[in-house]
Amino acid sequence: MEHKLPELPWPKDSLTGLISPETLEFHHGKHHKAYVDNLNKLIPGTEFAELSLEDIIKKSSGGIFNNAAQVWNHTFYWNCMTPKSSKTPSGEVSNLINQKWGSFDKFKEEFTKSATTNFGSGWTWLVKTNSGVEIVNTSNAGCPLTAGQKPLLTLDVWEHAYYIDHRNARAGYIEKWWGFVNWEFVNSQV
Ligand code: MN
Repeated sequence: MEHKLPELPWPKDSLTGLISPETLEFHHGKHHKAYVDNLNKLIPGTEFAELSLEDIIKKSSGGIFNNAAQVWNHTFYWNCMTPKSSKTPSGEVSNLINQKWGSFDKFKEEFTKSATTNFGSGWTWLVKTNSGVEIVNTSNAGCPLTAGQKPLLTLDVWEHAYYIDHRNARAGYIEKWWGFVNWEFVNSQV
């Protein structure tokens, strides 16, 4: 089964101040595309050839896992952003956040702290578990699906996500990112 690079869910010039069209040309057009192309080269003739992306992530390791998880993580990351953000959550995800952290501001503070201190290349996630919601950091291609957790929201903190627009200032990228979170999508994942 051939895996495909999905289109971005919004125009390349619509995340003003957060992500420039140039970053997207590299991040989506080269990095994300390379993960898709590598995966398609690695799986033919293996037990993973006909599996869904999610099943490959849950069952593989090494290069196949790294590329499959990076394909999934990036698609999820694009969907977590929108130029028409409501800025704050509503509905079920808002309830879950308030149950766990007491307020959206407290959640935002904790998520920001995790993303800022996620050492090296990785991802910061809001996930649903059997007992509620949690903030989780993964390294490299790490994906919460392997831990049986349900991803609700993610932020790519690899340098390639922000270096063109924010240089070394990960904190500035994270601060801007809050203004573009697609809470409608996050709620659809609960
Ligand atoms: Mn990335």
